[in-house]
This record gives sequence, structure tokens and C-alpha cells, in this order.
Amino acid sequence: MKRYLSALCLLAVCLASYAQEQSPQIVQFLKEFPQRAGFNTHSYEFIDVKDTPAPKGYKAFYISHYGRHGSRSDWAGNYTYKVVRDILAQAKADGVALTPAGDSLLRESAFIYEKYDGMDGRLTPRGVREHRQLARRMYNRFPEVFRNGSKKIRAVSSTTPRCIVSMNGFTAQLLALQPDLDMDLDTGEKFYSYIAQGENGTVRARTQKALAARPAKPMDAQYVYKTLFQNPDEGKKYVQNEYAFLYGIYAVAKVAEANDIDDNLFRYLPFDAVYTFHEQNFLSAYLNECNSKLNGDIRLPLNKPLVDSLVVQADRVISGASRRAADLTFGHDWPFLGLCSYLGLEGVGDRLSTEDAAAQWMASWNCPFAANLQMIFYRKAGAPVLVKFLVNERETAIPALQAVQGPYYNWADVKAFLTTRVPHTQIVAHRGFWKGNAQNSIASLTQAQEFGCWGSEFDLHLTADDQVVVNHDATIGGTQIQTSSLEEVRKHTLKNGETVPTLEEYLKQGGKNKDCVLVLELKPHANAQREDVFIGKVLESLKANKLLDPKRVAFISFSYHICQELAKKCPGFTVQYLEGDKDPATVHADGINGIDYHFSYFKKHPEWVKEAHALGMSVNVWTVDNASDIRAMKELGVDQITTNDPDLTREILFGRR
Ligand code: MG
Repeated sequence: MKRYLSALCLLAVCLASYAQEQSPQIVQFLKEFPQRAGFNTHSYEFIDVKDTPAPKGYKAFYISHYGRHGSRSDWAGNYTYKVVRDILAQAKADGVALTPAGDSLLRESAFIYEKYDGMDGRLTPRGVREHRQLARRMYNRFPEVFRNGSKKIRAVSSTTPRCIVSMNGFTAQLLALQPDLDMDLDTGEKFYSYIAQGENGTVRARTQKALAARPAKPMDAQYVYKTLFQNPDEGKKYVQNEYAFLYGIYAVAKVAEANDIDDNLFRYLPFDAVYTFHEQNFLSAYLNECNSKLNGDIRLPLNKPLVDSLVVQADRVISGASRRAADLTFGHDWPFLGLCSYLGLEGVGDRLSTEDAAAQWMASWNCPFAANLQMIFYRKAGAPVLVKFLVNERETAIPALQAVQGPYYNWADVKAFLTTRVPHTQIVAHRGFWKGNAQNSIASLTQAQEFGCWGSEFDLHLTADDQVVVNHDATIGGTQIQTSSLEEVRKHTLKNGETVPTLEEYLKQGGKNKDCVLVLELKPHANAQREDVFIGKVLESLKANKLLDPKRVAFISFSYHICQELAKKCPGFTVQYLEGDKDPATVHADGINGIDYHFSYFKKHPEWVKEAHALGMSVNVWTVDNASDIRAMKELGVDQITTNDPDLTREILFGRR
């Protein structure tokens, strides 16, 4: 949550405010229950739920539950309730009379601030109650899972205190209902890595750009002054940053429920402002975490470890390897949204354009405090295992899948669907994403990063005076790079006007995005001695830029000597040989852990992909730009496709073209 707020604060610097045409659907949704305007700080709405009867003879036997922490305090930063308290308190101390509404807001903001000063993001008593109630409802809804089956329950939590306390509330309630449950609780970094993974800087940057591009419309601050001050003009003098003041009021209102203030504090703001803040908040979350058209292809894969872990847990129970009645996982909103999106669940998981999401995504319905996904598994002797999905306890469909009956899906179908959800193959932009730019330019690297490519490839040469430069050909404008000085090489420019970049310059841009792997192609040089100097210079530069990290860089070369030397000097790093003249076993025996061949070699030797994988080697393929070739390489299961057309490749990998 905190990062959505930071994003908003950044936006506030450049925008007075913005608002789109209001969606009648969202307006009605907010008017029905004004506290929904808090979106992911809206407390959980416990509604009556009904179960569609399971197919004949089926009984529930196992539950996999992912729960977001319950209601919590907010972050008392400069843009939140402290701003409001300070302005109103100072005005009052100076004798500027507040209206009864102003007095009331001063009391409420001071109450919230003082209660949680130094306790940012902690679970409130309401948050504990939410989890206790959810546990009670789950237990009463599926008693057969707990009473007649195994008594074993495993609960794990993110390491964040609010999640641990949520887990305690939930499990304590289950034990109160059935003291003989064999409850196992845990938390730790190991779990955090999959329970709460899914952060991505590229996605956040793209979201911020999309939000900033939306048209602006000023907010009616005068309404607020009139509401809070007897003399609005006097009151106004205390407000230095109008946006921060209005956002602060929104911040007070949106955590009021978490603090057991059930009054609608959004009334201090004009509805237009509430609508705008709500939209900014939820669109930011939708674009950052869900399967949006803008970012879904980059975002979804990040949730694979969590999905895989839940599938493995369920399969162990189904096969009899585990005797658990339930696996309970406690985490945060972003993995919850990512998880539901990966599963393609209706509502949360809808793939929408930014405009459609703004018009129809039911934000607080999808992700309030204590939001949860429950997968309820059913079995019957001699029949396939079925599963149904409950989002915030409501039966939910996977529109892409055919259900067996009602909301009940064949678990085998769900698993088959999940294996196609995210392609195995990653995209490497060949010489950067250079469409509309120049190959091997800084701009082409930047575009590859912004597009969310897994990696961006570029070519390197060593000049006669031992400087490393980025260029594909051995010559530029008639100058032989390897026999010329840096100064001579730098007299030339690329098609987009950039001077031929040095490796140093390239790495400066590369370092800005940790999600895009830098794929360095080291071109062959005159002899092994020159190649050794070259390797030394490249590694030195990577080290100086804090990029000598197997997660940040990979190496490729047509020079077998360079590949072997890099493999020796950089154990654990991906090194791929480019020539295509050796089978995987030979390359592997020579200590090199990857191949990156022209696609024609894999057409002749499709078995090389499996052979390489069996040896633990990575497989990249160049340069694949044609739709049928991309499809063929995807079918072969290569790890990376190096392409001049990342856009087309992504569409094909995700099965959309
Ligand atoms: Mg190359």
C-alpha cells in the first residue's frame, strides 16, 4: 500500500488533480456505501454467501486459503492525516473559528494520528476481528473439512507484523472452535520470497506514466474551506499545498473504519475529489498488480512461485503425501491481486484496458482489508477431484475454463490452464528494442527496459587503446573499431544521433532497471591475448557499476575461447555459445553452461533443446522475427528468444497471435 501512496505523492507534484468522466457504475457503487472509496483500506464487508450444491456424491476435503492482512493503520507521512491535524490545530490556536465539521475532523485526525504515531501499518483490533470472523465463517461453511477429516492445519505468514497478527487471529479462532486441531504456524524469509514476491520496477514506471497521461481537472477546494472554516478565506491561508490538504482529508477518511470510526468522513470532501482519489488509488493497484492490458504480461509471471506453491500443496494432499485439512497463507494485497489474476478469476482477474478498468473494476469489492481467496477441493471415490474458487467468500468463475457444474472445476483442467498462463520462454531484445531508434543505442536499451523485456542484447568491441564500446559491426563509418582509438570511434554517431556508446555509458542506463537482464555479446578479437584483455575490461566495468551479478547480466559470444574464459572466471553466470557448430554435450563438457544458436540449427536439431536442458544448460535462440519461427521455438521450449520484434514475440508467446 505504501508504494501506491508514494506514487500518488509524486503525481501530486505535477498535477493539481485529475478526473475522468465519472463511471455511472462506480458512482453508484460508491454512493451505496461511501467507505468503499477507501478501496484497499476499506474494511471487509461481510455479506451473506450461498453455496451452489456440489455435484452428487462430492464432499469438501481440503481448503487452500490466501488471506490479506486485516484492517491496519496507515502511514503517517507528510501527505496523510498529520497534514490535516496540523493545519486545523494551528488555525484554531490562532483564533480562526472552525465549523462543527472542522472541529469534528480535527478530533478525528488527531485521534488517528496519535493512536498510530510510530505504529505505521499495524493491524488494528478491527483487523483481528475480521480474521476471527473469516475463520468462523469458513469453519461453519465447510465443517466436514475439519470435523471428519484430518486435523492438521499449516499456516504461514509474510514476515510483516500485520500479517503475523492476522494469522494469529485466524488460527486462534479455529482452535477456539475445535481445540483438537493440530495447528502448525510459521513465518520467515523463506516464505516471504513466494508469499509476497511480485514487485516490479518496470511495471510501476509504466503505471505511473499511464496515470500521469490522464487528463487533469481542478478540484473544488473552496467546498472544503467552506465546510471546515467559519471564514473560508481565513482558513485557506493555512493551507500551503492544496492537493496535500485534500489528499490528507481523504487519508483520514479512508482509515477511519480501520480505527472503528464507522462514520463517513469522506463527506468533508466534494464527491468529485473523492471519486478522483479513489480512482487514482485503485487504477494504480490494478495496473501494477493485475492482468491489465498495459502490464499483465510482465506482471503475471511474477506470481508463478506463489501459484506453484499452492498447486504443490494441494497435489500433496490429493495424492495422500500430505494429510492437511487446510493450508492457510497470510500476506498482502499485491500478491493476492496477482494470484487472482494469474488464476484468471472473474472480476479481479479481468484483463482490461486502463479506461475499462477505470469504468468498471469494482475496487473495494475486489481488494478490501482481509481480502481472501479460498480454493475448496472436493472429492468422490473413483471420480476426478473438483475445486471451486471463492474470492472474498463469493463463488467465482474462471471465464476461460469450462466448469464441470456451476462453480466447480476439474482440478486437472485448472492445472492444465495454469501451465499455459505464462510462457516459459523469455524475450531478449536484439541490439535493444530499436524500432524507431538505432540498434545498440542507449535509447534502444531504454525502450527494451520500458517494454519489460526479460533481457536486452548488445555487442561489444575493444578499441586499440583498451576501451570497450557498443557496436555490432567491426567497423563504423569506415573506422575499424579494434584497431582504432576510442577518440576515433567516438567521432561517429548512430542513426538516432547518439555518439557510439561506451560500455560504461551503456551500463549506467542498464543499472537503472534491475528487471531487464543485460545480455553482453563479446565479439571475437584478433587473438586469445586480446580477448583476455577484453574480458578483463568488461568484467572490471561491470564490477565498478555493481552489475557483476548473475541476475543482472548474461554473456554470449561466437568466440569459444571467450565463452570458456568467462565460464571459468564467472561461475554461476549464464554463458551461451553462439556459433551453432557444436552439440550441447560438447559445449557442456567444455565448461560452458548455455547455447544461443540461430534458429535454423534448432530446426535441424530440435533434440538439442531437450539435451541441453537435461544437462542443466540454458537455451537461447537468434534472431527470430517471423511469426511461424517464433511459434516453432516456443514449441521447442527454448528459454529465451532473441528478436528484433519483442512486440510480436510477446503476443505469440502469450497465445494472442
Ligand atoms: Mg549480437
